[in-house]
Amino acid sequence: MRQILLALLATVALYSAATTSPPPGTPDFKLVQLGEGVWAAIGSDAGKAGANAGFVVGENGVAVIDTFEDPGAAKELLAEIRKLTPLPIRFVINTHYHLDHVNGNDVFAAAGATLLAQRNVHDWMRSENLKWWGDKIKPEMKARVESLKLPDLVYDQGVDLYLGSRKLEVHSYPGHTGGDSIVYVHDAGVVFCGDLFWNRNIPNLTDATTDAWLKTLDTLVGYGAGKFVPGHGEPGTALDVKGFRRYLIDLRAAVGKAQAAGKNGDALVQAVLPELQAKYGGWELFQEFGKSNIQQTSEELAGTKRVPKPAASTASSEPQVPYLPLRVKIGEKAPDFSLPGADGKIVRLSSLAGRKVLLDFYEGFW
Ligand SMILES: [Zn+2]
Repeated sequence: MRQILLALLATVALYSAATTSPPPGTPDFKLVQLGEGVWAAIGSDAGKAGANAGFVVGENGVAVIDTFEDPGAAKELLAEIRKLTPLPIRFVINTHYHLDHVNGNDVFAAAGATLLAQRNVHDWMRSENLKWWGDKIKPEMKARVESLKLPDLVYDQGVDLYLGSRKLEVHSYPGHTGGDSIVYVHDAGVVFCGDLFWNRNIPNLTDATTDAWLKTLDTLVGYGAGKFVPGHGEPGTALDVKGFRRYLIDLRAAVGKAQAAGKNGDALVQAVLPELQAKYGGWELFQEFGKSNIQQTSEELAGTKRVPKPAASTASSEPQVPYLPLRVKIGEKAPDFSLPGADGKIVRLSSLAGRKVLLDFYEGFW
């Protein structure tokens, strides 16, 4: 998040003391144990981690959830895991494509892990991550983004992983980017939510679809788990997830009300900001994301928001139905409601229900 924040803030020349380099020796994250072999790595605001990560130790290996914003922090996480267990790092799950969750992928790939993510993460990681800097991106950062270690294995809806008898359920849900996943450690009652949950932190809504996100949060609460690890902020409970859901509801309602009053653009932001600040001004990142949350939600409600789209080749999971080519001679009445196919065979129109037909008018148009 620091890299993303720095990029976003630098673009609007709003550099603040809080976003300068951390003092040397600042820890990048703290480890919090949430169950037997279940650890959250909570990124510190001042450190290089930029977001939360986590890991689960099973009978025959370790699964890591997200890899931070900086490879240095990822190396520290790997070192911490090595202090706890000699078991191999078998899997890394990227909860979404944002840089603050994937930039240490190469560290864990080098340690032998198989990287998994929802299909769109693979499509977006090296392209959508460039947008944080716009045309101000430095060549070395562009090169880094374009060489990020991609997932080795992708899924659409989810996948179950086994570390011996320990089962991890990975499920993909919409809302934050359109390619987010959670990792549910069933036997410990812990859900690693990635950025589908921000605990007392104002979210990054750049890619968000908040109406779908509300349904996703209902689903997460419905897991009945005791602990929810957010992408940003401290581990929380279902109550905290509901608190975050309330933020999105309040944001949408306030923006909708201002739109109904005829406001837009900066006037709308200024109209909504005090109401939002009164209730959520104490949350982390309010200064950084409060205004853009209003702006982006306004675009979403107006139907003008740009969100990342799945690559064309994977946009539809429907099998491709081949077209049936038919030749139509203009001016000639089709006898018996049938037409000659391109292969010369006569096709009865009544046999075409539900089929895609490619008509080839070969004597011009009327
Ligand atoms: Zn994040």
